[in-house]
Amino acid sequence: AKRAGGGRQVRFAQAMRERAAHRSDIEADLRLALQEEQLFVVYQPVVGLLPGGGTDYAAGVEALVRWQHPTRGVVPPFEFIGIAEECGLIGALGDFVLARACRDFRAWQTQLGEQAPRLLAVNLSRAQLGQPGWSETVARVLAETGMQARQLQLEVTESLAAQDAQIQQRLHELKALGITLALDDFGTGYSSLASLHLLPVDTVKIDRSFVSQSESSEHHRVLIEATVKVAQSLGMGTVAEGIETVEQADVVRRLHCNKGQGYLYSRPLTTEALVAWLAQWPSA
Ligand code: C2E
Ligand code: CA
Ligand code: CA
Ligand code: CA
Repeated sequence: AKRAGGGRQVRFAQAMRERAAHRSDIEADLRLALQEEQLFVVYQPVVGLLPGGGTDYAAGVEALVRWQHPTRGVVPPFEFIGIAEECGLIGALGDFVLARACRDFRAWQTQLGEQAPRLLAVNLSRAQLGQPGWSETVARVLAETGMQARQLQLEVTESLAAQDAQIQQRLHELKALGITLALDDFGTGYSSLASLHLLPVDTVKIDRSFVSQSESSEHHRVLIEATVKVAQSLGMGTVAEGIETVEQADVVRRLHCNKGQGYLYSRPLTTEALVAWLAQWPSA
C-alpha cells in the first residue's frame, strides 16, 4: 500500500509540473496573442421576451472573447481568462475587447440602422476594476468610437460587486459616465436577494444553472420568480441566461423575465453571422 501511495505522489507531482508548464505556455502564448491580434470577439444575441408570448425581439448582444491560437485552434475563455487575471494581462485583454466591441457596435449602427442592436454588454473582470482611472479608459473609448454611454452595459459578477468599498466606488464612477451595469451569474455567488439593493446595478442576469433546472424543479422556479420580483421592485431588469429549450423560454417568460439569452436563440456569432441573424429578428 505504501508503494502504491508513493506512486500516487509521484504521479501527482508529475501532474502538477505538467499543469504549471501548460500554464506558462498559455501565458507566453497569450502575450504574443495580444501583440499579434489573435484574439477576437464574438457576440451572443440577447432577446426581449414579451410577457404575452408575442414575437420576441432582438434586444442586444453580449461580447465574448475568443482566441485563435496558431496551433491549438480556437481557445475558449475559461482556459485563459483566469491566467490573464493572474499574470497581469487582463487589463490589456479587457481594453482590447471593449474597444473592439464598441467599434463593431458602431459599424452595425452605420450598416444596419434600425436593425442594429440597441445594447452592447461587455464582461468586466475584477482586475480591471482594480485599476485606478479605468473609468477614464471607458470614457475615452466611448468618445473615440462615438458610442452612446447608455448603450453600453458592463457585466460584473456577484463576488466582484459585493461589499468592497473601493469596488463600489469604481462602479459608481462608471455609472456616472451614463453606462449601465449588469450583475452576472446571479444565484451562484454569495450575495443574496436581500443585498441586491446595495448594488448599483440596473440588470440582474439569472445564472444558467437556474434556467436549466427550471422545467424539472419547482424550487428553481420559485427562486427565479423571487429574483424577478425583487429585481422589479428595485427597478432592475432581468435576463435569463442559458435558455436552451422552448420550454425553458416559456417558463422564464411566465415568471416575467424581461430578456433571455441562450443557444435556443443563438450561439455566440462572428460579426458577419450576427448581421445575418439580426436580419431575421424584429428589433426593439
Ligand atoms: P458568461 O459571462 O456567463 O457568458 C455566458 C457563457 O455561457 C458564454 O460562454 C456563452 O457561450 C455560454 N452560453 C450562452 N448560452 C448558453 C446556453 O444556452 N447553453 C450553454 N451551455 N452555454 C451557453 P463563453 O463564451 O465560453 O464564456 C465563458 C465565460 O468567460 C463568460 O461567462 C465570462 O465569465 C468569461 N468571459 C468571456 N468573454 C470575456 C471577456 O471579454 N472578458 C472577461 N473578463 N470575461 C469574459
Ligand atoms: Ca456575462
Ligand atoms: Ca453569466
Ligand atoms: Ca459565467
